[in-house]
Amino acid sequence: MSAPNAAGWRPTMVAGTPASTAETSSGDRGLALEEALIFELATNATCGVDFDGDDVAPDPALSRFLRGAAPALPGLSEPEAVRHYTRLSRQNYAIDLGPFPLGSCTMKHNPRLNEKIARLPGFADIHPLAPAQTVQGALAVIAELADWLVALTGMAGVAMTPKAGAHGELCGLLCIRAAHEAMQGPGGQNRRLVLVPESAHGTNPATAAFAGYGVESIPAAADGRVDLAALLARLEGEAAAEVAAVMITNPNTCGLFERDMVAISAAAHAAGAYVYCDGANFNAIVGKVRPGDLGIDAMHINLHKTFSTPHGGGGPGSGPVVLSAALVPFAPLPFVARGADGAMTLIEEENAGEHHPHSFGRMAAFHGQMGMFTRALAYILSHGADGLAQVAEDAVLNANYVLRSLEDVLEAPFAAAGPCMHEALFSDNGLGGGFSTLDIAKGLIDEGFHPMTVYFPLVVHGAMLVEPTETESKAGLDRFIASLRSLALRARAGDDSLKSAPHFAPRRRLDETLAARKPRLVWRED
Ligand SMILES: *Cc1c(COP(=O)(O)O)cnc(C)c1O
Repeated sequence: MSAPNAAGWRPTMVAGTPASTAETSSGDRGLALEEALIFELATNATCGVDFDGDDVAPDPALSRFLRGAAPALPGLSEPEAVRHYTRLSRQNYAIDLGPFPLGSCTMKHNPRLNEKIARLPGFADIHPLAPAQTVQGALAVIAELADWLVALTGMAGVAMTPKAGAHGELCGLLCIRAAHEAMQGPGGQNRRLVLVPESAHGTNPATAAFAGYGVESIPAAADGRVDLAALLARLEGEAAAEVAAVMITNPNTCGLFERDMVAISAAAHAAGAYVYCDGANFNAIVGKVRPGDLGIDAMHINLHKTFSTPHGGGGPGSGPVVLSAALVPFAPLPFVARGADGAMTLIEEENAGEHHPHSFGRMAAFHGQMGMFTRALAYILSHGADGLAQVAEDAVLNANYVLRSLEDVLEAPFAAAGPCMHEALFSDNGLGGGFSTLDIAKGLIDEGFHPMTVYFPLVVHGAMLVEPTETESKAGLDRFIASLRSLALRARAGDDSLKSAPHFAPRRRLDETLAARKPRLVWRED
């Protein structure tokens, strides 16, 4: 990046050609405003606040902590600071601007009704340490949401405190470890492995390793599903005694339903192992399939995906974990309990002999992401059971519409095997001319769309994973499809300008390898 110049810093195009020959003197183009770093905008002379000055006598006891020099904070007036962050925010892409077709992320519209409910003072202005009798309504929300999650999944119980999907994975595996330890003594030594299919989300093997397990990969079959024969073989004989759990995503990251779940669960249980299901893609099956009926022991639900609470830079996640009867005794504290008189209590500690003596511990200091609970319950209640089933139907319909509208111009590796679930998977095989997924993704930025998930899952060459979700209209889908089609056709026609896209974004194509290998983490070297 170029150094600030005397006239005040205006960034030149970073490592690339100008967007057009008609550059402006300011660097801004129309209402697309360039923005420097806050340190580059700042001066030492400016301060946005009036201090009382030096006449505040420091407490002598604290004088040794006094600063020798002013902190290196950027000096900006209030309007300068406000404009800086507002200009930056305008360079962001968000679900409120257009579709966010990231596969595996379920980026759907966040209904404003949820926001209204979450802002009610009885939810927004309470404190996690408030005495339980003063926050009965909030505790009832947690309990009612828990009831819905248990009913929708057909499981025995739910741990509400995990704060994201990956946190829920850890919670589920810690329940599984506690269950093995209860049977085998501390360490549950023999069971040291978690089996994870090749197509798993990256968090799955990472979580298993974090929970202290070794990870063994199970290959995928040609149809994009887990290789059942390989998995069953691994769960047979003496070597199966080292398997603690099978960790499987369903629907999987190829956008396909794992049809063999019942057989997989039966084999895992026969081998003394548990079944963890990554339920991040529950949006495709909510109201249609109950994971409990498939023999699953633990599954996290991403409230911020299926139940529409904001995420992706827009808000915190929440990853409750539903549990089978075998794992419920090991669930973390605290949890909300409904007394016989209907009063809500918060079970904070284990109480030997009375309740929950086997809990593995805590996942979080308090009860979980309260703001997400209120939004998720508002979403569930406003849809109702029939509405939630329709969510799954429409999400799957939209994904299949994308798949069938593009399979003649983009290779769709598993399309011949039948419909997909919530996401359509393409590969860059067949684009020819050295064109790749990256070119298509960068071209989509010029077209005004956030790109889809790229190069994941790894089992497909140059994967492009598109999850439209149920909240996109047909007209919106048609616009997205038309853009993606035009890009695929440009690649097939050998239009080399695509290889330097984006041309209309604030920055041209960056050297991502250099940025990853030699990141510059300070704004000025001196
Ligand atoms: C999103 C996702 C996760 C991780 O969830 P976070 O809330 O981001 O931690 C895990 N698995 C799959 C399949 C996902 O899509």
